[in-house]
Amino acid sequence: SGARVRRAHNKRLPQYLERGVDVKFSDVAGLGKIRLELEEIVKFFTHGEMYRRRGVKIPGGILLCGPPGVGKTLLAKAVAGEAGVNFFSISASQFVEIYVGVGASRVRALYQEAKENAPSVVFIDELDAVGRERGLIKGSGGQERDATLNQLLVSLDGFEGRGEVITIASTNRPDILDPALVRPGRFDRKIFIPKPGLIGRMEILKVHARKKPMADDVDYMAVASMTDGMVGAELANIIEVAAINMMRDGRTEITTDDLLQAAQIEERGMLDRKERSPETWKQVAINEAAMAVVAVNFPDLRNIEFVTIAPRAGRELGYVRMKMDHVKFKEGMLSRQSLLDHITVQLAPRAADELWYGEGQLSTIWAETADNARSAARSYVLGGLSEKHHGLSNFWAADRINEIDLEALRVMNFCYDGAKEILQQNRKLMDAVVDELVRKKSLTKQEFFNLVELHGVIKPMPPSI
Ligand code: ADP
Repeated sequence: SGARVRRAHNKRLPQYLERGVDVKFSDVAGLGKIRLELEEIVKFFTHGEMYRRRGVKIPGGILLCGPPGVGKTLLAKAVAGEAGVNFFSISASQFVEIYVGVGASRVRALYQEAKENAPSVVFIDELDAVGRERGLIKGSGGQERDATLNQLLVSLDGFEGRGEVITIASTNRPDILDPALVRPGRFDRKIFIPKPGLIGRMEILKVHARKKPMADDVDYMAVASMTDGMVGAELANIIEVAAINMMRDGRTEITTDDLLQAAQIEERGMLDRKERSPETWKQVAINEAAMAVVAVNFPDLRNIEFVTIAPRAGRELGYVRMKMDHVKFKEGMLSRQSLLDHITVQLAPRAADELWYGEGQLSTIWAETADNARSAARSYVLGGLSEKHHGLSNFWAADRINEIDLEALRVMNFCYDGAKEILQQNRKLMDAVVDELVRKKSLTKQEFFNLVELHGVIKPMPPSI
C-alpha cells in the first residue's frame, strides 16, 4: 500500500518525493463534511477518465486554508494515500532564496519530478510565503520571489484539467494571496479546515490513542472538554506526553489522569508562546476571577474544575471551566433560577471592571460574556420565565418586541447588581485569586477552593427576581 514509485532506469532520484506515505482518511479525525470534498479529489485520480469524458474540469490546484496544526498536511497525504499516488512536497519558505533564480528552478524541478512520477499530489506548505500578492515586497528579495511565483503559475497551468498532477497547497492567509494564483484553473478551489470542536477533539484524541496502550475507562470527553481551542497537533502531543508519563511511573496503561496532566503541560506550552504585559495579565485575571468567584455562589455553577488566564489558540482571554450539565444547558432544561445565575456569572466581568477600574476607565474585556448574558436574558424573557410575562396571551406579537427587550434589560440589571454585590463582599477572595492567577496562570480546582475556604463570603441562597 502507500505510494507507488514508478522510476525509470538512469533517472536521478527524485528529491521532493516522500516515500512510504501511508496515510488514510481514517487517520484524520473530526473532519465532518469536509471529508466529502476530499473524497472528490481522490476521485479526480481514480475516476479521471470519467470526469474528462463528461467534460467536467479537474482543478489544477486545491487550497487547504486553516490555522497551523489542524491537519492540512496530513489531509494532503491522506488524499495521496487513498488515491494510491505519489506524494511530492515542499515548503514554500524553501522557495524563497537569496539567490535569484534558485526558487524558480526548484519549482521547475519539483513539477518535473511530479510529472515523471505521475499520477501524483504536489503539496506546497505555507503557500503564502511565496504567493503573496506581487509587488508587495520591495528590493531584490521581492524580485526573486516574483520569479518563483511566476514559475509556479506556469507549472500549474501546465497540468490544467488533466488530473495527472494535482497540487494541494496550505495557507493560513488565503486573503493575501496573489489574485493570479486563485484564478480559474489554478487554485480555484478552497477548502476551509477549522479548529476542531468538542466532538472533533474527542475523535482526534481517539485516533491517536489507537496506537497506544490506553486504560479501558479513559474519559476522552473530559480531556476534550479541557482542551478548548487546541488543534490536532496539540492533541496528538497530549497523547505522546501522557505515554511518557505512564512510562516514567513504570505503569503499563495510559489513564485519564495522565491525559489531563499532559493537557495542562500542553496548555502551559501555549502560554509560553504568548507575551503579555503585567497590566494585561492582571486585567485578564480580574476578568476570570470574577466569573469564578460569582459562580461559586450558585449550586449549579459552583462545580469549578479550574480557572486559567493562560492564553490558548483562538481565545484571547483565559477561562473558567465550570462542570455544568452541558446537555441540560444546551437543551434549555436548566431551571429558571440556574438561568438567572448563569446570567449573573456572565455579567461578573463587567461588574468587576467597574469595581476595579471605575466607570471612567471601562475596557471591553467583558464584551463576549456580556453578550452571552444578553442572549440568555432574552431567552429568559421570551421563554416566559420572567414573572411579568407569566400567563400572558399573545406573547409573540410584534408590538411586544420592545417590551421584551425592556424586560430582558430589567433581568440583566437585576443580575448585574447581584454580581456586583457578590464581588464587593468578596474583595479579599478576589484579590487572592487574582494574585495567584497572575503568579501561576492557572488554578486547579483544589487551589481555587482552598482560597474560597480562606477568604470567601458565600451567599447561602440567591434572592429571587
Ligand atoms: P497543518 O499542516 O495544518 O499545520 P499537520 O497536518 O502538520 O497540520 O498536523 C500535525 C500533526 O497533528 C499530524 O501529523 C497529526 O499527527 C496531528 N493532527 C492534526 N490534525 C489532525 C486530525 N484532524 N486528526 C488526527 N490527527 C491530526
